[in-house]
Amino acid sequence: MQTPQFCPNSGCEAHHEPPRSRWWVRNGTYSSALRGRIQRYRCSLCGRGFSTQSFDIDYYAKRRVDYHRLVGLVGSCCGVRQMARYLGVGYETIGNKIMRFARQAVALQSAVMDGLSVREDLCADGLQSYWVSQYVPNNITVLAGARSRFIYAATASSLRRAGRMTAGQKHRRVHLEQTFRADPKALTHAFTEICDVVCRAVAGSAQQLTVLDTDEHRAYTRALGAHGWWYELSHTARVVHRQTNSCLPRTGANPLAAMNTIDRQIRIDLAEHVRETVRFARNPNRSMERFWVWCFHYNYHKRYRITQPAADTTMHYQAAQIEGLRVERAQKGIWSRRRFRTRSALFGPPLVLWLRMIERPFREGWDYLPRYLVA
Ligand SMILES: [Zn+2]
Repeated sequence: MQTPQFCPNSGCEAHHEPPRSRWWVRNGTYSSALRGRIQRYRCSLCGRGFSTQSFDIDYYAKRRVDYHRLVGLVGSCCGVRQMARYLGVGYETIGNKIMRFARQAVALQSAVMDGLSVREDLCADGLQSYWVSQYVPNNITVLAGARSRFIYAATASSLRRAGRMTAGQKHRRVHLEQTFRADPKALTHAFTEICDVVCRAVAGSAQQLTVLDTDEHRAYTRALGAHGWWYELSHTARVVHRQTNSCLPRTGANPLAAMNTIDRQIRIDLAEHVRETVRFARNPNRSMERFWVWCFHYNYHKRYRITQPAADTTMHYQAAQIEGLRVERAQKGIWSRRRFRTRSALFGPPLVLWLRMIERPFREGWDYLPRYLVA
């Protein structure tokens, strides 16, 4: 970075739209063991001091880790402690780096989705695992392209443990529910958020009709039935909801084929979602951070089909016919240039992830979030 592009102070005029005239002055230098000589600046508008470091993904960090390798490991079914061992750092460092890169990933995703119109049908489904303890099943609702399998949105919630339990397990559930009881409408709320994304992406789309495929879960019909924008779009024949029984054979002809493929891919790639795993997530916010780091690689760097010829480099976003320029612009400097919340088009689940606001079973208060990430 040669000159500062904007002021890092979110309350300053020069944060969103810096004036044409020079709004900063150089203000000496300092040295750090990790980075050598660093240029300091002062904003002439708000008077806040900052440096080239303020715009670095590793702002405030004492260690560097190769983000390319880290992203690769997160999607290779690797546990946090294994990544730490492999990269020769402590596991807290891994958590910190995933925390940072997850924000790069949701900022990128939000920039790509901002004003995007879909050019294919959509499908949505929930992936169920558990986090914190076996008494807290979770559900990650994913919205994807029926043809491209590009992931447009994802949101997570904790559920109430159901199904067959021994008398001892039932007793334990009663005991635990004195501290935390999952919202019985969590899935409906989650699907409402997904529906917001669908409506935004369909409203400006050139295609006349967009089909949304799901299974027959009642939470989906409930959410759609109470969604005003969806009501409007379905009454002008812009959208239609098609339900498929989830017991039907999981073949390519199944309308939910794309979701079945994604579900399998997540269970192959992310350690905490392998069936009957000993590596479950302890913290929902951190779990979704890993999900978004995985999703970044899946959407923008993983080849659309593993069987495609070596010369064919089609990625999922290209299969979804998202303009290359849109992705290129959103992805510029993703490995090094720090994303600011206040300069990103975040809403819904990405914003919840950014602020670590996913509900934490059995814990009180907000999750720990370093101050520099609030900006
Ligand atoms: Zn300023």
